[in-house]
This record gives sequence, structure tokens and C-alpha cells, in this order.
Amino acid sequence: TLNRIPLVAGNWKMNFDHREATYFVQKLAWLLRDAKFDHKRCEVALFPSFTSIRSVQVLVEADHLRIRYGAQSVSVTSQGAFTGDVSADMLAHLGCSYVIVGHSERRKYHPEDDANIVDQVRAVLAAGMQPILCVGESFEERRQGIELDFAVGQVNDVTRDLSDEEASKLIVAYEPVWAIGTGMVATPQSAQDAARAIRDHMQAQFGAATAQSVRILYGGSVTSHNAVQLITQPDVDGFLIGGASLDPEELALIARLT
Ligand code: PEP
Repeated sequence: TLNRIPLVAGNWKMNFDHREATYFVQKLAWLLRDAKFDHKRCEVALFPSFTSIRSVQVLVEADHLRIRYGAQSVSVTSQGAFTGDVSADMLAHLGCSYVIVGHSERRKYHPEDDANIVDQVRAVLAAGMQPILCVGESFEERRQGIELDFAVGQVNDVTRDLSDEEASKLIVAYEPVWAIGTGMVATPQSAQDAARAIRDHMQAQFGAATAQSVRILYGGSVTSHNAVQLITQPDVDGFLIGGASLDPEELALIARLT
């Protein structure tokens, strides 16, 4: 990972109400403090539901925690008659550092197509936060052997419209859909191959400096049992974690191993 600071991102999905979120953050903070966790060496970020973000913010500010947090999605519009949506500025004003964009569950259950995903990335950047763009092939593309082209194509759908400065703020999460929530983790080599292909794409489009600074995460059934083999791959700069992020002990352990 050279001089890129690894990021361990816990995507809670639709789990934990604000009380459970508060309890989790207190427990995680205690575990990290107890282990003398060095937040300068590795960033830890949580992605609660919208309804829990304010509670996490209050706790982080009151206890001066170094844990970061963000949202799981965002509206592409800044304000107005969009019932049920939450704007990027609202999230930025809650102290969010990051927003997950284009998670496979959002692509599947909501009409989030490429155009919408590009607009979300722009909205996040304009509000001063960093987007975590999720890409990754389904089992069918892997069977056909086109997984790298597919994942890089999804990245390109977004990056072709970005300036150099915008691209330097992007974080990419390579998450093969067949590995999400299934217990079937990608091999360290295939995670590395995908991360490398994405970095090569960034280099071709934006040059070496941007490509070397952009963080590329792996996601898909990460646990404390497979984290070390994955993080030691040169182009894997951390993890986006679903299931294992719901257990503070497990998340703290993964962060320590990263
Ligand atoms: C995810 O949804 O981003 C994810 C990687 O989930 P899991 O860790 O449960 O596979």
C-alpha cells in the first residue's frame, strides 16, 4: 500500500437503530483504545443508517474519537421536492467523511444506474466528502473470464467525467457481487489483480501521482481470518466490510490486522 493509509470501512447496511449504533461506537472505541490502536496508521470508518448518523456524530465529538463515519447512499440533487431523499450537504453538515456510492445492493434494489452513480459521486465531492465507489462483477462475468474488464468498465463509467482533482479524492471498492454476504471471499491474487487493473486505469487516465494516491479497497466476505492475506497484496488498501462489521470485536480485530 506504499504511503496510502489503509481504510477499514464497516457498512452496517440496514442494521442497528440509533441506540444500538451508540452502544456499538462506545464498545469499538473502548476496544481500539484498549489495544492502543494507532489511528494514524489505519483509518476506521462506520456507515450507519441515516437515522443513526447524528447519534454517532454526537458521540464522536463528545469523546473526541478518531473513528470516522459516513452514509450508505446520497441524493443526486441538492434540495427541493424529493420526498425521502437526503442531500450531500446534510451529510457533510453531520460530519460525514465518506459516502458509499453504487453498492451492488443499491444497483439491484433501487434505480441506481451509471448516470445516477456519476451524479452521486459529483454531489459527494461538491459537498467536500469522499465517495467510495463500489464496483465488481457478478458470477456470470467471472465465469466468462471478463471480470477485470467489467470492473474497470464500471470505474471508467464514473472517472471519464471527472477532473484530475476530483479523481484524486475518489476511493474505489472492488466488491465482486458473488462474494458479498456469501462467505466466498476472492482469492488474494484475484483481489490484487482487480485492484491493480483499476489502478492501471487510473494511471492511464489521470497519471501516476493520482493512481498511486487513490485507495482501492476489497469487499466481499472479509473476516479476521482472511484479512491479512488480502491486505498484504500491494494494491489492496483496506476493506469494505458488511457482515463482519456488525461485531465490534471482529471489526476491531480486522482493523488491528490491517
Ligand atoms: C458489502 O456489502 O459491502 C460487503 C462486503 O458485505 P460482506 O462483508 O457481508 O460480504
